Amino acid sequence: MNSQKVGILGGGQLGRMMVEAASRLNLSVTILDAPADAPAKQIESTQNHIQGAFNDAAKITELASQVDVLTVEIEHVNADVLAQIEQEGRVRVCPSAFTVKTIQDKYNQKKYLESHGIPVAEYREIKDADAVKQVAKEFGYPLMLKSKTMAYDGKGNYVVKSEADVEKAVAALSKTPLYAEKWAPFVKELAVMVVRRANGEIRSYPVVETIHKNSICHLVIAPAQIDGSVAVKAQKIAENAIKSFPGAGIFGVEMFVMADGEILLNEIAPRPHNSGHYTIEACETSQYENHMRAILDLPLGSTAMKVPASIMVNILGENSDMEACYKPCQAALLADGATIHLYGKKESRAGRKMGHITLVGESMMQVQKNLKPILDEIEPGVE
Ligand code: ATP
Ligand code: MG
Ligand code: MG
Repeated sequence: MNSQKVGILGGGQLGRMMVEAASRLNLSVTILDAPADAPAKQIESTQNHIQGAFNDAAKITELASQVDVLTVEIEHVNADVLAQIEQEGRVRVCPSAFTVKTIQDKYNQKKYLESHGIPVAEYREIKDADAVKQVAKEFGYPLMLKSKTMAYDGKGNYVVKSEADVEKAVAALSKTPLYAEKWAPFVKELAVMVVRRANGEIRSYPVVETIHKNSICHLVIAPAQIDGSVAVKAQKIAENAIKSFPGAGIFGVEMFVMADGEILLNEIAPRPHNSGHYTIEACETSQYENHMRAILDLPLGSTAMKVPASIMVNILGENSDMEACYKPCQAALLADGATIHLYGKKESRAGRKMGHITLVGESMMQVQKNLKPILDEIEPGVE
């Protein structure tokens, strides 16, 4: 199909689902990640994967020496080494070292988006607890204190509810540089996946609604059950945001919708995204396959949904007991339209993404009905 070899920095579930898409196209993929049995490595036995951290300069260089194109399944990688590799010119880096570097620091990402006319919540750099108190005079409480770097699944966020929380919040996030965001009293969270080829061609997937629990994505509802004009606006903002960054590949764009219909961009992921898992079963081309097509400069596939409705639910670890993760899967075995994805993680931890289930159906009501017994296993007694 294509003789170019692909190297992925990171071997988690997003890498695993990239490998699934790549294998259908006979593509060769080499993974760099520390565990020998990382989820993505488990299902790609044709290559000698590399054991090492995805921010280790020597390991990234080793991976680059074996492939034609490098891509990422996580943004917390060593972007300076990617920039060097890009400059040398033999290996293409997707989306691009600049894009990964800009996005991996959420404060820089916000500055960049703002300078390109994309609406974002107000934000300020924070040096210490006093700076938070100063900013609160302007933003009021609650405000969101955020780590600039290394953030995921809300682990870098602290809701500062009043001045009494300030010192605790700064101490809790002391490992990374910080910034503060004005509280966004959103009515819904939306997301759009956008894919771009090197020639600039852009395609976006339908707008979906994401529902978070404890700052971790819980449900993705596709398409979002919102007013058509809001969807059009969200899609436009997502496309404009991605047009402002160089490089080929798939991007996830998270947004907030306010009560008055105003949309603010929350953050961008320069890679496949949890809110796009549903595309595997529900769209004509999955986010993973379109990412592969984009980075290999192959024609992009249709991003349209091929079913009327879909909902994805994440399976999170509850504690170290793996069995807890399997209960919703057992319910899914009995549910029409359900597909189970388990990621092959060897250890379960509270809040760790262990797998997901996607349901598709002829209507949103039908999907919700089929989802009910699965949700009952995840959150007994909750509607
Ligand atoms: P991800 O796993 O998506 O990378 P993250 O750790 O980078 O997440 P954010 O996306 O910044 O964290 O925030 C996580 C969640 O916290 C958001 O989806 C939203 O529900 C809430 N949140 C973030 N920023 C704000 C804000 N300014 N106002 C209100 N809620 C917010
Ligand atoms: Mg994030
Ligand atoms: Mg987020």
